[in-house]
Amino acid sequence: MESVNSTATYEPARERRPEFWRLAMRCAQIAGSVDVIFFFLFHALGSPILAWVNVVSVAMYAGAYYALKYRRNKTAVVLIWAEVLIHAALGIVLIGWESGFHYYLLMFIPAICVSAARKWAVFALLGLWGYFIALDVLMWFIPPLQPIHPTALHIVHLFNLSVVFAMFSYLSSYYLRMVVSAQRKLREMATTDSLTGLLNRRHMTYLAEKELARFQRSGHPVGFLLLDVDHFKSINDAYGHETGDRVLRSVADLIRRELRAQDMVGRWGGEEFLAVLPDTDSGKAQASAERVRNAFLEKDWAEIAGGDVEVTISIGVSELRAGDDLSTAVSRADTALYRSKNSGRNRVELETV
Ligand code: GH3
Ligand code: MG
Ligand code: MG
Repeated sequence: MESVNSTATYEPARERRPEFWRLAMRCAQIAGSVDVIFFFLFHALGSPILAWVNVVSVAMYAGAYYALKYRRNKTAVVLIWAEVLIHAALGIVLIGWESGFHYYLLMFIPAICVSAARKWAVFALLGLWGYFIALDVLMWFIPPLQPIHPTALHIVHLFNLSVVFAMFSYLSSYYLRMVVSAQRKLREMATTDSLTGLLNRRHMTYLAEKELARFQRSGHPVGFLLLDVDHFKSINDAYGHETGDRVLRSVADLIRRELRAQDMVGRWGGEEFLAVLPDTDSGKAQASAERVRNAFLEKDWAEIAGGDVEVTISIGVSELRAGDDLSTAVSRADTALYRSKNSGRNRVELETV
């Protein structure tokens, strides 16, 4: 019982690990169903006590399932632990070690490792190990209390082994899926900007560096656009920060839509964006920039921000040169951008030679 309490006390909050508790619900469902089969199996094999033990088990799993559903996680953990520990012990004491009921205890090992804090996991694992060994040793000294026919015992053994095999396979693949999806989410969070969904500055830098290396090997041209929304501060001031955010998302969508799929677009700063255009010289990059700028003029911004707001963009264009590093290429685009701001905004300017 000690390990039951420790796990219950240190179970993670449902909010922190919803997948774990969903998995626990699924397990309670599966285990409850298996016990329904057991009820009939043991009746047929001539062990009525074990058959009726399964009725109690099904009730305990149903209780655990509903406890989990209504977020009584501690209650559910206690019920599941109690069920497995008592059921395994009863099965073994009544019909013998060869029944294979002890296999179910092994299923707690991964469950403890993924759910409990490390210090408590060690205690819980030691407790489980002690329980397992104690049952084993006990059966050296006493005969089964309600032995069944050897063939029936063999059938029970094979059944238990198969159930544990299936459950381990299912749980492992479920766990793997959980980890893969968590990794995908993490990668997405690490590489994209949460407001606009564009690449974030760090990932943009990483990809641009790769493009730079490719340029150094192959000499294929690479264009850079640095895009900055004009007078964005006044949009924030006039319509509020939330509207500003909405405008920024539309700006990002528009830039993304006007450029090609292979072009990389990232949020470089607050209302400033960087686009890296593979296989694009400065002339073509300038044409792309003009396309973006014109799309801003055609868009109905009032629909997004309300009022009679118009959003324009200034763009500086540069092309990678031999001997460039990333910052020099970007800073030439920045100089060009600065020029377009100084020349009245809503313009595309090319780097000077
Ligand atoms: P300019 O034409 O010279 O670029 O003028 P500007 O007002 O766009 O430039 P400035 O650098 O003066 O102001 C940028 C503004 O962008 C200020 C800042 O509050 C706003 N901004 C930066 N990031 C965000 C954001 O994530 N959301 C919102 N709503 N505003 C942002
Ligand atoms: Mg600006
Ligand atoms: Mg700016």
